[in-house]
Order: sequence, then C-alpha cells, then structure tokens
Amino acid sequence: MFDMAKGVGVGAAGRAKGCTVLHIDMDAFFASVEVRRHPELAGTPVIVGGAGNRGVVTSATYEARRYGVHAAMPTARALRLCPTATVLPGDLALYAEVSRSVMALFRSITPLVEPLSLDEAFLDVSGAGRRLGDAAEIGEYLRARVFDEQGITCSVGVAGTKFVAKLASTSAKPDGLRVVRPPEVMDFLHPLPVGALWGVGPKTEETLLRLGLRTVGDLAHVPAKTLQRALGSAAGTHLHELSWGRDPRRVVPEEPEKSTGHEETFGTDVDDPAVIHRELLRLSERTAGRLRSGGWLARTVSIKVRFADFATITRSRTLDVPTDVGQELYDTARALYDALGLDRARIRLVGVRAERLIEAGSAAQQLELGAREFGRRDAELAADRAARRFGAGAVRPATLLHHDGRPGRETASTSGKTRRRSPSGGRRNALGGHPEE
Ligand SMILES: [Mg+2]
Repeated sequence: MFDMAKGVGVGAAGRAKGCTVLHIDMDAFFASVEVRRHPELAGTPVIVGGAGNRGVVTSATYEARRYGVHAAMPTARALRLCPTATVLPGDLALYAEVSRSVMALFRSITPLVEPLSLDEAFLDVSGAGRRLGDAAEIGEYLRARVFDEQGITCSVGVAGTKFVAKLASTSAKPDGLRVVRPPEVMDFLHPLPVGALWGVGPKTEETLLRLGLRTVGDLAHVPAKTLQRALGSAAGTHLHELSWGRDPRRVVPEEPEKSTGHEETFGTDVDDPAVIHRELLRLSERTAGRLRSGGWLARTVSIKVRFADFATITRSRTLDVPTDVGQELYDTARALYDALGLDRARIRLVGVRAERLIEAGSAAQQLELGAREFGRRDAELAADRAARRFGAGAVRPATLLHHDGRPGRETASTSGKTRRRSPSGGRRNALGGHPEE
C-alpha cells in the first residue's frame, strides 16, 4: 500500500519504479460496449462488423476470438469459424461517446493524454502527483474507474517508454495490468517476435525473417550497420534502438480539437444518390461559410451517414491543402460518400464536418493559400458578402437552385474548447476495419 508519509511519488519506488508511461487499451472495445447494451449476450461470442458478402469484422469478444475470429476478417469467414456468434452492425456514435468519457477520465489524472484511437491512449503520469500512488496504482485505479463507470474492461501497460508500455498492455490482455520496470525491459522484450516492434510491418518482418532474425533478441545482437544495410539507415537505426529498449518519444497530448459541421436528417429516408449529393453540397457550403466567418481552414473533411436502421458510419480524409472553400469540402465529401459504394441504401441522415481547424491568418497558411487557385474562393467570399447584405440564400451554387430541401431540420455545432471529433476520431475510420484489440 502506498504510504503518504514516506512521500514516495510516481516512478520513484515500488513495483513501478522508473515507470511514468501508461498505455491503456479497452478490451474488445466495440464488442464490449455492445455486450453492455445487450446483457443477455454476456459470455457469448459477439462480432461487430458488416454482414453480407463483403462485411468485415471490426471487433469480436474473447469468446469469439477463441474460435479464431479476429478483426479485419471477412464476417462470412468468421461465421464459418464460429457459427453461433451474434453479429451486430456497430454504432460508432455510441462508441465515440464512451470513448469521450474514458478519455475525459484519463485527463482528470494528467493533461498528458495522447489518444491513439477511440479505445487506446498513452498517459504520462510523471507529474500526476502522489495522491493516487505510483504509475501501477494509477493504472489499477483507472481500470477500476473505467469498469465502474462504463461496465467494460481495459488493459494497462506500465513502463518507462511508450513502446514498452504498449507491448506490456498487449501482454496483459484481457482485463489485466502489467508493469515492465526498466531493469526488466530486456527480459520482457527479447523473446518477443520481431513483428511486435513498433514500425515493423509485414514487409520489414519478411526482410528480417529472411535474415534469420525471429525475435527482438536476435535483432538486438546484430550490428546496427547490418540492420541499416538491410532496412535503410533510418529504419535500421530505429529498430536497433528499440531492440535495446530505447524509445525517446514523449507522450504528446492532443490539442483540444476544433471542428465545425452541419448535418441533415431527412423527413423520409432517401436512397437517391443525386439527392444525397445535393445535400452534401449544401452542407459543405454552410460549413465553409462558418469556417470563413470564424477565420478557420479545415485540414480534414469528414462525412457521417446514418442508415434507416440507425447504423451510423463516418469517413474522413485529410486534404493536401487546408481549405475554407465549400466546393473543395464538397469534392472531398462526395468522394468519401461515393467510395462507400452504397447501392441505394436507405439513408436517414447525412453530415459534413470540417475538422482539425487551423487559423487562416497564420503566415504558413498564407503561403499555402497563395499557392492555390483563388477563383472559387473569391466567388464564395462574394456570396458571403451578398448573404450579409441580402440574407442567407441570396447566392447559392447552381445545383442548389433545384434543391427541394426541407428547411428546419438541420443541426449545426461548433466546438471550441471541448473536444468534439467525428466518431472516427478524425484520423481513421473506425468502422473501416482498423484492427482493434
Ligand atoms: Mg482495444
């Protein structure tokens, strides 16, 4: 038990001596949230993912994994392995909500929280004070809080570096905590397969295996020069350093994200792509107007599509050049929508968001803006001026003149200080199959 009188702080003594980094990862996150919602499924194999021929598993309970089911596997194959599994379509809005609560809990311990996706984050607890004990005790405390508040479990890795903490949480799964103190790093690391190292993808792994390097220990005992020759200077050096437990990366907290957007719930479900396109254009125009009036440029555009059955997906794409031009938001939004390949699916709601906003006035942006073709932006600025003089809708893109839109159901939101990201986290498409543990 931590003894306040001794004044021993995080990383100073005890079983987590020298450890200041936590990697926290929800266990089978999407599937666990579904089991919480459907308690009758507890203890049974549950798969979250797309049904049908092209559906892919995004998350599976450990009961399903026992049959060999894993993320990114075609759902049809998963069902052959585990015919009794319940397949659920997934509800990103709900997962995002749970994620926000969990991240907020982490930030109540330390501001140094670096989310990697909806369900995992690094925490640097070196400045977290002594009230909660050392890094391991903070990890146990957070595990208990997550379970109490969300009814789901998570696993925690505690170490002195980010990559060891991440490997430690993996080894603690499910529902565990593992501490790897600095003197224990080599014993922990060296038996692991080379593929476990950060930055070793399938291609690098193949190269290493061809060199006869199977474990991290094998790799550690090869001269750095050999690795550099085989993998290139940067990658070779990087892996050599990692194999000796050296990882200088800090936990980098994300800036509270600004984003703005609009969405539209249709009066009746829509399956006509032309109507959806028109709506995306209208929402893009409105979102761009907000960007311009706020002096922001968007680096990322995301769309949200909610189907008749309330299943909701988001997709996002980062732009080559940040923009506040409606036509450019629309081009990306439409491309994202078309890439879904929806074959007249019935759609209840569409939304467009501009994310990762940056100030339009900064010098770097002036340069980037200077490099762009200004015609469209000038036209939209003129429309802004006309709207201010004559009222909104005075100048609309030609496509919208034929729009049979229903006013009044649109909702808009702008977030400033508080984090409000697309459910995809803005960086990846969580239902697009990112492997999730
Ligand atoms: Mg996970």
